[in-house]
This record gives sequence, C-alpha cells and structure tokens, in this order.
Amino acid sequence: MDLLADGKPKEACGVFGLYSREISGELAQRTYFGLYALQHRGQESAGIAISDGERTLAMRDMGLVSQVFDERKLASLEGGHIALGHVRYSTTGSASWENAQPEFHGRGDVNVFVAHNGNLVNAAELRHELEGEGFEFESTSDTAAIAASAVGELEKGQTVAEAVLRTMRRLSGAYSVAMIFRDKLVAFRDPHGFRPLCIGEVEGGYAVSSETCGLDIIGAKLLREIEPGEVVVIDDDGLQSYRAEEARRALCVFEYVYFARPDSRFDGKEIAHARQRMGEVLADESPAEADVVIPVPDSGIMAATGYAQQSGIPYAEGLIKNRYVGRTFIQPADSMRQLGLRLKLNPLPSIIAGKRVVVIDDSIVRGNTARKLVGLLFEAGAAEVHFRVSSPPVTGPCYYGIDMDTKEGLVGANYTVEEIRDQIGATSLAYLSVEGMTNATEQKGRLCRACFDGDYPIPGATQKFALENADTVVGKK
Ligand code: SF4
Repeated sequence: MDLLADGKPKEACGVFGLYSREISGELAQRTYFGLYALQHRGQESAGIAISDGERTLAMRDMGLVSQVFDERKLASLEGGHIALGHVRYSTTGSASWENAQPEFHGRGDVNVFVAHNGNLVNAAELRHELEGEGFEFESTSDTAAIAASAVGELEKGQTVAEAVLRTMRRLSGAYSVAMIFRDKLVAFRDPHGFRPLCIGEVEGGYAVSSETCGLDIIGAKLLREIEPGEVVVIDDDGLQSYRAEEARRALCVFEYVYFARPDSRFDGKEIAHARQRMGEVLADESPAEADVVIPVPDSGIMAATGYAQQSGIPYAEGLIKNRYVGRTFIQPADSMRQLGLRLKLNPLPSIIAGKRVVVIDDSIVRGNTARKLVGLLFEAGAAEVHFRVSSPPVTGPCYYGIDMDTKEGLVGANYTVEEIRDQIGATSLAYLSVEGMTNATEQKGRLCRACFDGDYPIPGATQKFALENADTVVGKK
C-alpha cells in the first residue's frame, strides 16, 4: 500500500468556464484562479482553453494548476472572450497527458473543446457506436465519446442546444460538462445531477463552475445551480436554457461528506453546515464517555466541532497535518517506512496523553489509515480511542465518477462494525446512520447514496459498467 495515501475515495474532476468580453484581457488568469479553487477535485492534470469565437488555444499538462501554469503561459493564452478550465483525477482512462482536459475533438470544420466531471456507465458501448460512425479516438477517457457525439450532431446541422440534447439521450451516467463550440460556451448536467455545476454572473458575462468556491474566487455572483438535465448556452445574445427529460435527482452524497469544499454552497446552504450537523447527529446516535474530541484534519474538522458542541466534550486539535505532503510526494526509503502516516499527521501528546479521546473522521473506505491512526494516538499516550465516522459504512463501489474500490476492497462491505473495530484497534467504533447523514444534508429524496445503501439510481448500470471495464468478456458483443 502507498504509505502516503490517505485512504479516501478520489474525486473525478473540476470544470470551469467563463464568457465575458469585458474581462477578455484577464480571462486566462481568472480561469487559473477558478481552477485553483477547484484543485481539491483533481490533482493529476490541469488545462485551460481560450477562444475568441474563431480560434481556440489550449494548454494542458500533468500536475497541479500551479505547476502547469505560470504568468508567462497565462499571458500567452490571453486574448479571447470564452474560457474553459479543467482539473482532473482519472476514473475512466489512465492518468496520462492524452487524457488531460480540456479535450479537443473535431472533424472537418466542426470541433469542440470539452471539460467533463463524472463517469459514463455506457462509455465503451458509445465509443463502439461512434467508431461505426467514423470517429477515431486518441484518448481513452469517456469525455471523448461525449465530444464526438456532439460533433456528429453538429455536423448534421443541428443547433448547439439540439446537438447537446441529442447527445445527452445517448449518454448514461454522471456528467457535468462545460464545452466551447465556436462562439458559444455551453454547460450541461446529466438528468440525475450526480455531480454539481453552478452558474454565476461576472463583469459583462457568465461563469460556470463545479462548485461555488470557483465563482467566489473570481468575484462572480452565484445565480443558481445548473439544474439536472439542463443545457445552458451562452453567447453574445446572453444565456439560453434548455431541458432534457427529467430523472430521479441524485446528487452524490459524498459531495457533502467529503469531496466539496466546506465553503461551497449547494442549494443555498454551506457544505460546512451539513458537515457540522453530521457531527451533531453522530453525537446523539453514538455518544462516548470521553475527555476530548479531536478531528482528523482537514476533512473531519467540521463534524468534530459538531460532535463536541452536541456532546459537551471539549474540542481540541490533537493531530497536526503537514499541509505540504501531496500526491506527488516521493515515497520514503524502505528504512523509513515506519514513518508512514506520521509524514502527514503528527499527534500532540499534550492534548492526547492520558485522555479518553474521541477521534472523528469523515469516512473509512479500506481501513488501513484508520488502523494506523489509532496506533498513533495510543503511541501518543491516549487512554482510550473512540473512533467515530461522520458517514455510514461504504458497502458498494461507485459507478458515477468516484474512484472507489471494488466491493472486495471496501472494509465496510466485508466486515461487521465490531470486526472493523477489532482490525483498527479502537476502544469503540461507530458510524453515522444513513438516515442521520441524509437528514444532515436536508436533501432527502434528492441524493445518490448508492455506495452506502445499494440503491443505484441508474438501473442495470452496475452490471453494464462491470462488463465494459472487464479485461476480457467471453461472449460480449
Ligand atoms: S455511489 Fe456513492 S460516491 Fe458514487 S455517486 Fe453515489 S453516493 Fe456518490
């Protein structure tokens, strides 16, 4: 196991778009800052495309936004009035330059640039169909299939809105997309609304972003979320909205638990508020006799403050995080492997020693990190370690854009809570209930909770996805 992996599921991507003639001199720079705010959604690659309505320049590379772009590169991109940005973590398609986005797809004089967050469950089937229509694919990401389908429809002379609506009818799965086509910025979201996407007003135009934090940073004013199944087309005539067929709403509940930034807002409410409520409900459902509540930083902080307030047990920062250990950190030499988690988190004995400690984390996926963490706390002198998790046990994989293990790798799918407690070595272990988590979001009936309760919003998607991702399938057409 990667000693530095944090044991968390990984988000798929962040998308950003901007349309404004008023700020055309700093469009690339604003897109850079928008992506900077969305960096938590993907750290493998970053890219920006800028268009003046006729010519589009794009730059993308592996690495963090700050590694891919500098002032000189941004200056070379300035000049247009339509921008597209993307940060990526791969779920479908390997982590390579070819799969970095925005992705270009064109044939003849019809071409589009696309930025996508999500995962199609019928990507392989769709690519096969599109190959039959004469399309060739250079990248292995499912985004290429979205782009090619849109190009195919545009070639037939469809309007941009109709081309996207027709493309959406061919797609199954999760997609929040921003796209440049000639003089238009287009944004659309799958009918379930698995991944977030919002729109705001900025000087002389509009901005779209996976999360509101991307709008805040560039001074854009949030207008609203792009609705599930909505297509928004922005050009010099303003903003037009079109609708695809409705489907059961299913925003990923993990956005509330862990992925989204706490200062982002869904449905007008801060994510931080939902996380704090999760901690409060957890305190009611699973109290502990303890002296101190500590978070696993950073993602456990909000829930830990909620747990502490509700239980009356004092809150303290008992684990110090090294904020500069990223995914690209070099692996320690074998002789240093015992450092393990300590490279990322170091306990404060003055807070922990001799105390009955409640430690709050947002999730347990594989269990390895939780075991190491409990070990660290006992080493630091904790008398008892009561592990509390502000989400339920993860019992199934995700098919909608989150890099979550197959069922075999999920500790919650294979062991009882008592068995997991025993494996991680905690004094006690408790998870938030599915109902408690749902109530804390105030989005009952509008969420995907499939990896917690097995209720997958796209019927048959699990089997389809498994077939498409298998290396060899005997009898597959
Ligand atoms: S299965 Fe889980 S991680 Fe995937 S979209 Fe649904 S709630 Fe989110």
